[in-house]
Amino acid sequence: MHPLPPEEPAREIARRIVASMLDKTREVFSKYMTMKKRLKEEFGLEAIAVGELVECRKLLSIRLSQLNRADPNLQVLFHGTVVEKGIREVLELKKGDLCFRRVGNYVLFGSADAMLDLGDTSVPVEIKTSLSFTLPRYSHFIQCSLYAFLYDAPFGILIFISRKFRIYVVPRIDEDAVSRLINLWNSISPLFIEECTYCPLKRSGLCSGGDKDYSKRSWLYSLALSLRRASAEIVLERDVAESIAMELTSRKVQ
Ligand code: SF4
Repeated sequence: MHPLPPEEPAREIARRIVASMLDKTREVFSKYMTMKKRLKEEFGLEAIAVGELVECRKLLSIRLSQLNRADPNLQVLFHGTVVEKGIREVLELKKGDLCFRRVGNYVLFGSADAMLDLGDTSVPVEIKTSLSFTLPRYSHFIQCSLYAFLYDAPFGILIFISRKFRIYVVPRIDEDAVSRLINLWNSISPLFIEECTYCPLKRSGLCSGGDKDYSKRSWLYSLALSLRRASAEIVLERDVAESIAMELTSRKVQ
């Protein structure tokens, strides 16, 4: 019988995973805080990141106060980061530049996961992955639509990877809706109450849940639903992949 191999090499990989996520979280939050502070100090404007609008404010502030601790969602974060980077690299997409857009007394800012150049226009691409869901959440459609608004693009693209590979073309949200969304975000948290169901803080007993007033959210859910319904969808299943492969082959022959 061979002796058991040492655990240390496995621990080294785990150490690198945790270190990379700690570095990434610190870098993202540091940029985000600097941005908000400067816009407030220099221009007296309240800046909100696109990701922040669809994230629970309570969850964000807890994550901000625990930057030296492993994120309770570490596994999901790592998975998402690796897939996002891999997709950009393999599909030769560039990360979106940091972009700003004023909405009333607020400044919406952010940078899309990637940009797709369509010749006469460039559109933002939002990349989402899930280890447990088969379909994108409502917040994913809103976030993608907000990026389209931010970059003044006609639509955004949402790539959702779980057991299937789904690609959506999501219409852009208009300024009135963005303004209303910001007002709602100021009054309830989280915007999407189902976020509490999957929240790591709820599972670990650190938070008992958010504002449960559903009546305040009826507009939000109908907006998300209308975006979902108005989006074009491709599920990259075998028949679709084969028809695309044939199309690509015939293009090469011509
Ligand atoms: S349980 Fe709900 S309110 Fe609490 S942090 Fe999580 S998402 Fe936010």
